[in-house]
Amino acid sequence: MKQIPILDLRGQHRALRDELMTAIEGVIDAGQYIVGPNVGAFENEFADYLGARHAIGLNSGTDALHLALRALDIGPGDEVITTTFSFIATAEAISIVGATPVFVDIDPWTYQIDPRSVQASITSRTRAIIPVHLYGSPAPMSEITRIAQQHGLAVIEDCAQSVAAELEGRKTGTLGTIAAFSFFPSKNLGACGDAGAIVTDREDLAQRVRALRAHGGRKKYYHEEIGLNSRLDELQAAILRVKLRHLDVWTMARRAIAERYNAGFATVTGIRTPVEEPGCYNVYHQYTIGVGERDVLQAKLREAGISTAVYYPLPLHLQPAYAMLGGKPGDMPFAEEAARSVLSLPISPDISDEDQARVVESVRDLAVTLSAA
Ligand SMILES: *Cc1c(COP(=O)(O)O)cnc(C)c1O
Repeated sequence: MKQIPILDLRGQHRALRDELMTAIEGVIDAGQYIVGPNVGAFENEFADYLGARHAIGLNSGTDALHLALRALDIGPGDEVITTTFSFIATAEAISIVGATPVFVDIDPWTYQIDPRSVQASITSRTRAIIPVHLYGSPAPMSEITRIAQQHGLAVIEDCAQSVAAELEGRKTGTLGTIAAFSFFPSKNLGACGDAGAIVTDREDLAQRVRALRAHGGRKKYYHEEIGLNSRLDELQAAILRVKLRHLDVWTMARRAIAERYNAGFATVTGIRTPVEEPGCYNVYHQYTIGVGERDVLQAKLREAGISTAVYYPLPLHLQPAYAMLGGKPGDMPFAEEAARSVLSLPISPDISDEDQARVVESVRDLAVTLSAA
């Protein structure tokens, strides 16, 4: 039986092999490996693509979140509000700068951060909100920015899963104060290793991040503050420049796959398909359904040769790493329910029609049997 992986990047790389190899050889032959011409060119191309003023290449999405907070001078004593239903990196960045993450629940239909819970969690110590555009769909940014403006808070968009996603025709990453992108290989725009970027329209924040990523100095061997080494590699930048040119085609392919899934599951009770809110251009980093008996369904799909994934099985307020904040089961009921019921299906942009049909059929048949049992 042929295995259907949740994501297989080898197909994408095979198709781009000549372009990628030319780019890689170019870097090796040029002999400049750290912040060379490809990093600068990628930063310009990426900023132009998004419609933003500045992009700064970094070595991961986690560092992008961390340096966004540093650039905003957020640290000990400050609180930063974010969703409990995200990858740990979102919260980790807040902790790394010495601030306190304040977790809030999600909207049960969209899985995105709930603006009313954000509003209710603001204190005199709150400095910023980090909305996460989860699964590639924009968070409710108009409500979030309204709340932020009322209270004088910064908005840091976590765009790790949402490159190319749009809200009312504007790309995510241009909707807040500053944005963090990840180019981890499995993201919609992925390097062949770790990589990330910060995007902002604010000149002061861009300059600060440029200094922080290279040991806190603007001039070599002169350091205004303690920074770190978080530069984007020249090789990764060269690879990302090649892939950026294909991103729109891959995004359209993902959306077409999502439409076929939606059509395939439309008549099946017991499967909740993703909600597309008005004005949202979802790039389907994940195609995530909601089902009862999720773990049984996942195990049976595995037996049928279909790999799926759970993003995420444990909300952040219940993670052992955050036990010191005192989160308890029942605190965030919608996120806890999502953690029990979400299942992400294979969505490589180059999955064959035949393989996708097999996924649809298996999920449909199993879901029907399980909900009848
Ligand atoms: C992947 C991811 C990150 C971290 O990005 P890295 O490049 O792996 O450090 C942060 N937030 C979210 C929501 C992510 O999915």
